[in-house]
Amino acid sequence: MKSKHILNKMTPYQPGKQIEEVKREYGLDRIVKLASNENPFGYSGKVADYLSSHKPALNIYPDGYTTELRRALANKLGVSENQLIFGNGTDEIVQMIGRAYLYPGANTVMAMPTFPQYKHNALVEGAEVKEVPTINGYHDLDGMLAAIDDKTNVIWLCSPNNPTGCLIPRDDLYRFIEKCPSDVLIVLDEAYFEYADKKLQPEILSYLEQYKNLVVLRTFSKAYGLAGLRIGYGITNPELIPGLDVVRGPFNTSSFAQQAALVALEDDEFIEDTVSRNNAIKKSFGQFLDSIGWHYFDSQTNFMLVSTPISGDRVFQYLQENGFIVRPGEGLGVSKTIRVTIGNETDMQDLQEVLYQLHTKINEGSLT
Ligand code: PMP
Repeated sequence: MKSKHILNKMTPYQPGKQIEEVKREYGLDRIVKLASNENPFGYSGKVADYLSSHKPALNIYPDGYTTELRRALANKLGVSENQLIFGNGTDEIVQMIGRAYLYPGANTVMAMPTFPQYKHNALVEGAEVKEVPTINGYHDLDGMLAAIDDKTNVIWLCSPNNPTGCLIPRDDLYRFIEKCPSDVLIVLDEAYFEYADKKLQPEILSYLEQYKNLVVLRTFSKAYGLAGLRIGYGITNPELIPGLDVVRGPFNTSSFAQQAALVALEDDEFIEDTVSRNNAIKKSFGQFLDSIGWHYFDSQTNFMLVSTPISGDRVFQYLQENGFIVRPGEGLGVSKTIRVTIGNETDMQDLQEVLYQLHTKINEGSLT
């Protein structure tokens, strides 16, 4: 068969093991999954109520224009309806951007480490990928600007960055946008926007008017807790939307997802509660890590990248045997780290106990 040659060299995304599988393998009753940066507090009770009493007509295609959600979101963000694009998760918008802007002969610039789907989609489209190492987990914006050449079509900024958690400082971001050539599309992925400190965040939407080469991505998967429904969105200037719409599937977000997101948008209290609980737990997890002398990166998200004295794979293994699934850094491109999603109060307390045992074993030399 004559598929794109690159596909022979690439591997599909490897989802982590399913909870039931890990339970069986290690004979455990309880598994805590802290691997995918999901919301451990669930989702808005208003969404739960709505979904239990409203049944969308499943025999009818969803609204391909996402009309109601579009109106509500535009209102909430203070942008025009024609500045929005919706995706089956932000993942799909990353894919659409790749389809629309990347092709053999073009290149794209991104941080290393960062969210792996930027690279994955760029490679599928046959574009060259230029990766610029982060500095202490922060994007090296000068290095990224220097990597741009006349073949660069897209530059990806992930802020806060997955997996490091670091937020690009506001003024650095503004300077970067000003210096970036106007024919290079800047994608600012703010999947963790709701978690980041408002005082540190850029007023990015006000820049969309002036900088026509900017797309901001956000999602309902993280703080809104709707990862299972798959819905995210992009905000940009209206001129870029038709091109993205050409490569978008006509009914790409489901009726359930559109309705749930609409209700979720009305529940600011759920988001405030999620963020304040997350921040308190994250702070106390940081204090625990300080107490055992483990370094971690500045995180403005619901996860932390933690440096480990032995390989991240080994730490991952130990934690899994003890009922916790995290992400080993080796798979994310940062060896001797693990990425831990901030779970609920009890689960994180239990995790700390297991980490303390592990720390003791490492110090005694019984685990290497
Ligand atoms: N961007 C970043 C930085 C992410 O971490 C994720 C999810 N892990 C996504 C985008 C994709 O989110 P979703 O497709 O669930 O909206």
